[in-house]
Amino acid sequence: MNIQHNISLKPYNTFGIDLPAKTFAPFATVEELAELLSAKNEQENLMVLGGGSNILLTQPFDGWVLQNSIPGIAIIKEDENYVWIRAGAGENWHGLVLHCIARNWGGVENLSLIPGCVGASPMQNIGAYGVEIKDVFESLEAWSLSDRNLVTFSISDCAFGYRESVFKRKLKNQFIITSVVFKLRKKPVFQTSYGAIQQELETMGISELSIKAISDAVIRIRQSKLPDPAVTGNAGSFFKNPEIELPHYLELKHSYPDLPGYPTKTDTTKVPAGWLIEKAGWKGYREGDAGVHSKQALVLVNYGKANGNEIYALSEKIVQSVKEKFGIVLEREVNIY
Ligand code: FAD
Ligand code: NAP
Repeated sequence: MNIQHNISLKPYNTFGIDLPAKTFAPFATVEELAELLSAKNEQENLMVLGGGSNILLTQPFDGWVLQNSIPGIAIIKEDENYVWIRAGAGENWHGLVLHCIARNWGGVENLSLIPGCVGASPMQNIGAYGVEIKDVFESLEAWSLSDRNLVTFSISDCAFGYRESVFKRKLKNQFIITSVVFKLRKKPVFQTSYGAIQQELETMGISELSIKAISDAVIRIRQSKLPDPAVTGNAGSFFKNPEIELPHYLELKHSYPDLPGYPTKTDTTKVPAGWLIEKAGWKGYREGDAGVHSKQALVLVNYGKANGNEIYALSEKIVQSVKEKFGIVLEREVNIY
């Protein structure tokens, strides 16, 4: 066991917040995880980390930070149409996507270049360009902190929703995901209708569609719009896109004819939070080293030395301002510690 004390978490969160953890240890197997958990007192706080790309640290972490680095990608079964693979929770998500693309296994290409690890992907049912991991999800294994054993979760057990799962709600802080099984298509079905994919494929001069071409298009769009965490600290979209009642949407649409809206399965309308924040005047705003990205207002950034409280305070001002202007209360997507 490689247990360290009072170390900075700066290299372990993509916002680049420099705050210490009282105790820090990586684990690469379920056995190592079990050993670390038995070394920890039950009363001590616990944070499980993957790539740290969906967290904002606002105070020193007075407890144990365990970093999941369980490796491995293996085929567990296949038939004529599908292949089922198990990936260790510590595998890099984009690495897994590239692994699938190289073998022409379809289903995750629209989820290219999302930072972080496989183990965090079910936490908020990661999604982009019209695909969510629930679309390729078969099952996962997670360590139960109360029963101290591995439990298998099926898709219905996970209660996936829009950037949601049971692990963010009812079972919050009760399980550590150790591996995930995905079901991928041997005969890929292409999804290009969402966002700017089609346009990007045309710009790239693609004549024959493939999952590699879709992945490349998604990567190009993302690189052009999103800040690279290696250069500018951020955790992607800071807020979720709100889903509002239709009469509210129609009322706003009357005042703002260019307001985009997407009908959801629950008869509400999803409104892009980035549009609301931009219209409220925040795009490109900067206060000290905390700011709102100039190309996508949904992304809050750390230009260098901002601390977590400054970024949180900026997010609070944005919430208030959007509420006053549009009567919509934005919900944070990033996990605050
Ligand atoms: P972490 O930040 O390490 O953890 C996130 C949360 O999950 C924490 O609460 C942590 O305790 C918990 N957790 C992590 N691993 C485990 C585990 N094994 N078991 C139990 N709990 C665990 N997200 C999207 O959905 N779509 C996008 O398109 C997208 N684009 C992004 C672009 C950028 C530039 C950035 C910086 C982020 C983006 N994100 C996106 C957000 C983020 O990358 C994803 O949510 C990702 O899945 C987080 O993975 P992680 O390993 O970094 O999680
Ligand atoms: P975009 O294409 O500019 O679109 C803005 C928003 O409108 C998106 O958030 C998307 O919602 C919604 N949208 C666009 N076309 C839609 C359609 N056909 N049907 C339903 N909703 C539609 O968005 P972007 O900022 O460049 O991001 C592109 C994709 O990457 C999005 O799916 C976004 O969620 C994802 N992304 C996520 C993060 C994160 O941290 N969570 C960060 C960057 C990008 P949805 O968000 O619901 O898809």
